[in-house]
Amino acid sequence: TLMSLTLLHKLTLSELQRKFTAGDVTATEIVRAYFLRVTQVEPKVNAYLTQCKEAALAQAERLDQALKGWRKTTPMMAMPLAVKDNICTEGVRTTCASRMLDTFVPPYDATVVAKLRAQNYLLLGKTNLDEFAMGSSTENSAFGASRNPWNIQTVPGGSSGGSAVAVAADECVAALGSDTGGSIRQPAAFCGVVGLKPTYGRVSRYGLVAFASSLDQIGPITKDVTDAAILLGAIAGHDPRDSTSANVPVPDYLKALKRKDLKRLKVGVPAEYFADGLDPEVDQAVRTAIEGLRELGADIREIKLPTTDAAVATYYVIATAEASSNLARYDGVKFGLRAAESKDLLDMYLKTRAEGFGPEVKRRIMLGTYVLSAGYYDAYYGKAQAVRTLIRQEFEAAFQTVDLIVTPVTPTTAFKFGEKAQDPLQMYLSDIYTISANLAGLPAIALPCGFSKAGLPIGFQLIGRPFEEETLLRGAHAYEQATNWRAKRPAIR
Ligand code: GLN
Repeated sequence: TLMSLTLLHKLTLSELQRKFTAGDVTATEIVRAYFLRVTQVEPKVNAYLTQCKEAALAQAERLDQALKGWRKTTPMMAMPLAVKDNICTEGVRTTCASRMLDTFVPPYDATVVAKLRAQNYLLLGKTNLDEFAMGSSTENSAFGASRNPWNIQTVPGGSSGGSAVAVAADECVAALGSDTGGSIRQPAAFCGVVGLKPTYGRVSRYGLVAFASSLDQIGPITKDVTDAAILLGAIAGHDPRDSTSANVPVPDYLKALKRKDLKRLKVGVPAEYFADGLDPEVDQAVRTAIEGLRELGADIREIKLPTTDAAVATYYVIATAEASSNLARYDGVKFGLRAAESKDLLDMYLKTRAEGFGPEVKRRIMLGTYVLSAGYYDAYYGKAQAVRTLIRQEFEAAFQTVDLIVTPVTPTTAFKFGEKAQDPLQMYLSDIYTISANLAGLPAIALPCGFSKAGLPIGFQLIGRPFEEETLLRGAHAYEQATNWRAKRPAIR
């Protein structure tokens, strides 16, 4: 019906699931409704690098036909999702927002995608990102930045900016992102949606184009916490194809949402996360959120994470080191781009990499090669690994006394285009609150807790013990139910 077509895109994943399961809406109606919305807002926000309208429609029609006989559905069936364009999709171009992979069409699905496909989800398209997920604003995309639907003069965050925008602007019901140092949580916070980075090993990285393998994790970006629980449940689990994936059973994450209070939950506040450089409006909103947690019954305690100030430096040594190694495979032979004319093999390597990579990727390959070089390995890479251990141990110690840690996600709200793009160090420093969870392998969620005077979303972060996503979700959900930040949506249309 016309009504469902114009309003469908506003629903959350759980709401849409209910409608589809009940037979109130067809898969074809879902695809049409979402592409109507995409057509309207996409020119303003540039969330997608590839749209899959024809394939989604064809698949929706097949689904609707098949359901005519016997209406048997699975949870993700016909759910219209967007997938970050560094996650491989069989037959659908996967570019990493890089000229290097402009025409790369993977011959296989990432495990997360295969899991969703097995349930007959609908892939609406592949979303924009900073090239190879290196950045915090999508300004490093080779195909143009995405724009924040709350204010198109400001960045949506990154690197999973396209996914966060697609969710915030109702261009999909939920999305997948990847998070190496904050790339799910930071854009979620900038765009006023929910972003969850799972425990390292919780979700398979098979088919995620590697940036920094010891830090990368795929996770959900959603309209609310319930949806995060649903989508995490759909993608989590052991995968023999990823040797770092953990063989830990996947709980029913929705069950974790049943408790609406936070009684007996101990929540730690690290003073180091509320220091210089934190915007007063963000500071205020996060502190108010902490008071909200207290009112819900949480036992709020001060904790110490003294090595926080070394996290950015540590991350940018380890992440660049791993990137320099991972990106060695783009040599003009194995994948994607090959320079048109070269005089010999070395010349072909050099020209391909000079043409294919953007400036930030080159900067990181050079930094990473430098910190791994024989003369500097101990001074930089070895040292960074030692500090990484220290950071992990500090979290372990903190989690002896608390169940969750609460912090800001970002020092500021969404910044303007160009504001940090000329100064890579400023850009790196904006990752200060998200990076440690990756270094320590911990699960963390970002969710809305207010708006700045300028009307931009503010988020806060909960960090949990390894494989305790249930506690994260419980805390986040109780807070979300007690507040109503989601009622305010971006005005874009
Ligand atoms: N902003 C961080 C970086 O540029 C994190 C990126 C990410 O999580 N992929 O490396």
